[in-house]
Amino acid sequence: QAKTEGRGIIRFHDAGIQQRLEERAFMELELRQAAERDELVLYYQPQVGNNDKVDGAEVLLRWQHPQRGLIPPMDFIPLAEETGLIIGIGQWVLEQACAQLAQWQQDPALAELSLAVNVSARQFSEAGFVQQVADILHATGANPHRLKLELTESTLLHNMEDTIARMQELQQLGVQFSLDDFGTGYASLQYLQRLPLDQLKIDRSFVQGLLSGDSDPAIVRAIIAMGQALHLEVIAEGVEERSQQQNLALLGCSHYQGYLFSAPVPLAHFEQWCLQHHNASQPA
Ligand code: C2E
Ligand code: MG
Ligand code: MG
Ligand code: MG
Repeated sequence: QAKTEGRGIIRFHDAGIQQRLEERAFMELELRQAAERDELVLYYQPQVGNNDKVDGAEVLLRWQHPQRGLIPPMDFIPLAEETGLIIGIGQWVLEQACAQLAQWQQDPALAELSLAVNVSARQFSEAGFVQQVADILHATGANPHRLKLELTESTLLHNMEDTIARMQELQQLGVQFSLDDFGTGYASLQYLQRLPLDQLKIDRSFVQGLLSGDSDPAIVRAIIAMGQALHLEVIAEGVEERSQQQNLALLGCSHYQGYLFSAPVPLAHFEQWCLQHHNASQPA
């Protein structure tokens, strides 16, 4: 029951609604300032191959809030998407990731690493997105083949002809594509084969079901078979137990990401993890 007081001023009699609206407006203001204040940080979660060799990492955003501590992306990305702030934030993430790739390229021990960056539907459908990525690659000197953009089915299903054209332009630059959270949407095989994808990422919810050896892995098997039919690499997210990895490997999965290997960690930890991991996998 909102009551209009004069021109455009709306007050809610329900104090709870009024308070939530004010909190939201305040959070939007804070989020607007967060980038300028250096409060956004990137965490890195390793992605490994069948021999546990490190391929690279997924870049995952966090907000280091001065009072509320480390805020996970699910608590502010929806707001960033609604308000359009995701455009600037997303650009910043891409800049950071590409600058990091360029820096690793100078270091023989880390030069092979690639980075996967999450891209929102709103960000991807911006008119200037392709040019933005091209400009960032050019400015940083990052090898485009080491940059992987993670898109979701809902992003791709929206305005398909445009999406395919955009993906093809980026692919010509050398950029890779992964279909994130795969299995949770409605993509058909016919539709998938039209998209210039490089990787399918099996959603965590399906990986969870592989914990007990007797659970029916039919869906995971179908997803992996789909990936193989389309000549795509298949990576599983949310791998927490060795048995899950083993089951996935038996079904034909080749890449893994999850707490079994490492949680998302700050840059310095990730680099250290890679160096130790690399050393550990060397023959004695
Ligand atoms: P996502 O892209 O599907 O990322 C995977 C999420 O699973 C991450 O959550 C990660 O921390 C979590 N995870 C990884 N391994 C495990 C595991 O073994 N067990 C469990 N339980 N969870 C695991 P996070 O970091 O909270 O990110 C959540 C979502 O926020 C991401 O889902 C992605 O959709 C979005 N996001 C994160 N960073 C960005 C960004 O820079 N831009 C955009 N647009 N979205 C982002
Ligand atoms: Mg992702
Ligand atoms: Mg995912
Ligand atoms: Mg997911």
